Amino acid sequence: MAARLAAVIGSPVTHSLSPAIHRAAFAAAGVDWSYVAFDVADGEAEAALDAMRTLGIAGLSVTMPHKTVVSQLVDRLDAAALRLKSVNTVSRDGAALVGSSTDGAGFVASLDEAGVDVDGAKVAIIGAGGAARSLVDALARAGSIDIVILNRTPANAADAVALTPVASLGALSDIGRADIVVNATSIGMGENGGFPCDPSLFRETQVVADLVYHPLETQWLTAAAERGCRTVDGLGMLVHQAALQQQIWLGDEAVIDTAAMRAAAEAVLALPA
Ligand code: NAP
Repeated sequence: MAARLAAVIGSPVTHSLSPAIHRAAFAAAGVDWSYVAFDVADGEAEAALDAMRTLGIAGLSVTMPHKTVVSQLVDRLDAAALRLKSVNTVSRDGAALVGSSTDGAGFVASLDEAGVDVDGAKVAIIGAGGAARSLVDALARAGSIDIVILNRTPANAADAVALTPVASLGALSDIGRADIVVNATSIGMGENGGFPCDPSLFRETQVVADLVYHPLETQWLTAAAERGCRTVDGLGMLVHQAALQQQIWLGDEAVIDTAAMRAAAEAVLALPA
């Protein structure tokens, strides 16, 4: 197969882990693909997709701030992207550009890898943005029976609640009855830390998952572990949504090495800032 190019488009992308993760996956799969990061400013996604067509770029990862607008620019959407009106992956089908959304399925796969079964589970999600919506959609499809959404601005949670009949707007008092508690906000990112909810609300039988992966173990996850909870970090979702992108680009028969992908990301995270 001739050499191919894939890329992430977003802004900012300077610190994106996607190049390291995808290069590791292509190397492990033994295919001659390269992967680069393109900083594409807000409002320039259409030009980036035109460039994809013109230059013959084989695949795109799409990140902030372009996920919604790209869902309006591609020729076709997969079912999840259609429901979420959000695209994190672009692939080619002949001349057509196809948009997919692998975030939610990536999160469920990361829980599965950690031995957490979401089928029949009650879940509390803190946050209601694009990431939270992808979780709600994927968790409901994977069999979660009750999903409460807690958001700083309750009115912003309407789209997330509308995705499935098992979702509802909740309050902090709902955290105790969840089997799985998820932080889908940016609270806890970077040096400043911070808790999306008070860890004293946790019970030791709960699974606590954070979408934040920088730092890999957030203060919130540390506090949950100290209370006896099983914890799942945000790098698992990042790796598995990328693995699903690889599967789309390389085909169902390709073997995707998620351990190599995670190791590559951890190596970058371990570098001095
Ligand atoms: P988004 O669409 O901008 O949504 C942000 C959400 O966080 C909103 O619900 C917002 O509430 C809430 N929020 C932000 N700052 C807050 C604060 N100080 N206090 C309380 N709530 C706050 O962002 P997103 O795309 O959903 O991403 C959310 C997080 O997930 C980010 O940290 C992102 O890096 C992470 N993420 C991780 C992965 C992964 O693979 N691990 C994938 C995607 C995203 P309001 O509605 O009140 O503004």
